[in-house]
Amino acid sequence: MTLSDRINAIEESATLAMAAKAREFKNKGIDVISLSLGEPDFKTPQHICEAAKKAIDEGKYFSYPPVAGYQDLREAIAAKYQKENNVPYKAENIVVSNGAKQSIANVMLALLNRGDEVIIFSPYWVSYDALVRLAEATPVLVKGTIENDFKVTAQQVEGAITSKTKAIIFSSPCNPTGSVFSRKELEAIATVVLKHPNVLVIADEIYEHINFIGDQTSMASLPGMFERTITVNGFAKGFAMTGWRVGYIAAPKWIADGSNKVQGQITSANCSISQRGALAAITGDLAPTKKMVGEYRKRRQIVYDLLKEIPGVKANFPQGAFYFFPDVSSFFGKSDGETQIKNSDDFCLWMLSKGHVSLVPGGAFGLENCVRLSYAASEKELIEALKRMKEALATLK
Ligand code: GLU
Repeated sequence: MTLSDRINAIEESATLAMAAKAREFKNKGIDVISLSLGEPDFKTPQHICEAAKKAIDEGKYFSYPPVAGYQDLREAIAAKYQKENNVPYKAENIVVSNGAKQSIANVMLALLNRGDEVIIFSPYWVSYDALVRLAEATPVLVKGTIENDFKVTAQQVEGAITSKTKAIIFSSPCNPTGSVFSRKELEAIATVVLKHPNVLVIADEIYEHINFIGDQTSMASLPGMFERTITVNGFAKGFAMTGWRVGYIAAPKWIADGSNKVQGQITSANCSISQRGALAAITGDLAPTKKMVGEYRKRRQIVYDLLKEIPGVKANFPQGAFYFFPDVSSFFGKSDGETQIKNSDDFCLWMLSKGHVSLVPGGAFGLENCVRLSYAASEKELIEALKRMKEALATLK
């Protein structure tokens, strides 16, 4: 008896696997600082919690919601995109799901056939590659370099498109690199895409609020791109709602309908109470979000300054999201006398067991030389974690 080829073709999610390992250490009483999972350390803002509590108390939200989400939430998401992102979405374009991860999975299953190619900008978020494979299509990695802030260029996209290309996918701000594509860079990519009538763009904007440079452009807002773009977003990062599991797509109606069909057969709608919380988030005051972003901005500087003090670590200054993606390859081949570090997996396992800091191996994001560090943790934890890393790394010869 065997598992399917489909499931054998993918790895376990590295972000979740590292988080689980860190938890194992913590359960043994070891004081691990977990910088692996990309999870805000803030509490969900009060007005969102109140809305969810009210929904329970009113007793009106205990039945199955419509598969694509409550109409008022879909309208509110569309209105947000019209107002803030300059994209004329309507409720019919929106499908609310159990997190942006499910949104992406729905889209992949709705669009892809075996043999189709999906261009993934690399470094990429762990699950893009796996979800393309689950849909039995072929991931095509196009690599950004650290010198170009890990950003893929329009020329590279042009060079990677074939007659089999169905879509390209990337996140901006990017998980894991923190890079932000400028309007100009997106326009150049759009120009290439528009030359190829069958190519779609899956634009993951889940970190849109955590953008320190402010040049946040939605691909779907660019001329000609509304019909070609699936916008992915959600509430986890901007509103500290990871556990509530609310993500969504905004897409041309035929794609939204396809995703809705997938979701209707797999999970049905997202949790009713979470959706009432999400409605309060998207129609409410953004002050709590701005406050969190202010904290991330401070932490980014702290971590950057401390990373620079570690000999052998090379880091870019991220423009968004809450990750650093430092190059640690200068430690590969080194040993503490017991363990030799050969790659990013070894580096992270060793750092967890020796330094008690959990990170995610860059290999899982398509770049073996790097590791991902999430700074969605308190200043105190970050300072301590960077101290531990520096001390541990100093023992490698
Ligand atoms: N998106 C977060 C991360 O990259 C959450 C973990 C996950 O769903 O993979 O850490």
